[in-house]
Amino acid sequence: MRLIMLGAPGAGKGTQAARVAAQLSIPHISTGDIFRANLKNGTELGLKAKEYMDAGKLVPDELTCDLVADRLQQSDCGGGFILDGFPRTIPQAEALDKVLEKLGVSIDYAVDIDVPDEAIVNRMSGRRACVGCGATYHIAFNPPKVEGVCDKCGAKLILRDDDKPETVQTRLSVYHDQTQPLIDFYKKKDKLVQVDGTMPMDDVFAAILNVIGK
Ligand code: ADP
Ligand code: AMP
Repeated sequence: MRLIMLGAPGAGKGTQAARVAAQLSIPHISTGDIFRANLKNGTELGLKAKEYMDAGKLVPDELTCDLVADRLQQSDCGGGFILDGFPRTIPQAEALDKVLEKLGVSIDYAVDIDVPDEAIVNRMSGRRACVGCGATYHIAFNPPKVEGVCDKCGAKLILRDDDKPETVQTRLSVYHDQTQPLIDFYKKKDKLVQVDGTMPMDDVFAAILNVIGK
């Protein structure tokens, strides 16, 4: 199964992609996670990406598309994958089409998780991310067992710099301008499925499995 997760920042793409990936035994590929891992390791890509991420803007397509193309050619993607946070622009979606065509495969579904802007601000201010493994929590909706500590690896949980309210507003307007047009892009290709992302996490997960026929 080859899937794309669409949705505003904070809609629940990462939360659901991790669960769907585990359920279907396919790799979860998050471009945001790849940039954050690069930053942690002090790579040139990480330092370049940080500038854009901290400002709530998109990392330029030329830094993003090749990275995903390389990742999709790794052997663990042979049986499928789930892309989380990519594509985020029409040129990225076109670049993805070219890579998939070269590989002789295509996307099964683009899953749009629909959450209105009013709910997003609350989600982002309560999101906590693990500095060790990148796992995501929410202080009210999905709290860790011990406050400030990751259940999975025991590392510290932080509020991401780009989850501060002033940056969230920029990220939302970037989403509406540059990423939302992908909904029509995949609708025209007859690949779009939509779920109501305002439901509790388990219900969103069940709805996703249902729309992808699993
Ligand atoms: P995205 O990857 O789309 O940016 P996340 O999966 O990180 O979004 O979710 C954003 C925040 O909202 C996280 O703190 C997460 O725990 C929380 N969250 C995700 N799905 C739901 C849901 N259905 N209901 C309430 N909170 C949720
Ligand atoms: P995310 O973890 O998906 O919320 O992404 C965090 C940040 O990483 C975004 O706000 C962007 O700055 C950057 N980013 C992640 N994926 C992409 C992408 N496909 N294109 C451009 N920038 C991206």
